[in-house]
Amino acid sequence: MKTLRLKNNLQQFVDEIDKISGINLRDCYQCGKCSAGCPMVMQMDYPPSKLIRHIQLGEREQVLTSSTIWVCVSCLTCSTRCPKDVEIAGLMDVCRELSIKEGLATREQRKIQQFHKSFLETIRSNGRLYEVMLIAKYKLRALALFQDVAKTPKMLLTGKLKLLPHKIENVEAINKIFEECDK
Ligand code: SF4
Ligand code: SF4
Repeated sequence: MKTLRLKNNLQQFVDEIDKISGINLRDCYQCGKCSAGCPMVMQMDYPPSKLIRHIQLGEREQVLTSSTIWVCVSCLTCSTRCPKDVEIAGLMDVCRELSIKEGLATREQRKIQQFHKSFLETIRSNGRLYEVMLIAKYKLRALALFQDVAKTPKMLLTGKLKLLPHKIENVEAINKIFEECDK
């Protein structure tokens, strides 16, 4: 059987993804089990298994401009189903980060990452979700200060939004988890 050898510039992308993610993409033998179980596959331009094939072939642009990496909701179904233990959900995270770093993500796609960051910071500060802080952080990042602002008074009056946070007792323990992840 003939071995496929990639040109240097294509191999560079495969090595880069390998290095950042720690995932050995050569383990994927294209069985398609990940794609068969993905609940979002109908909304993606490539199913997860095909995205991996594009990475294996060093096709940087197809991967980093793909809607797949942004439509993925990190449900981990693909990673759980993979017979070769390829951590596909983690791979999507790495691709999203690279897409932003290289300026390939659209404004709408960047908003998804801005929302994720705002959500995690809120959890880090309070140990649980505090919607007012989440909304404020997200709107500042996304420069969408006035979006849906008219709904706020009604949400506050009906108790859908709580003005003050309800922190958990041991927020420090949550902070330690984040600190470990930051290392
Ligand atoms: S389930 Fe695993 S081995 Fe099969 S196509 Fe997906 S990533 Fe590759
Ligand atoms: S983690 Fe993403 S790619 Fe994997 S099954 Fe869930 S939505 Fe699909």
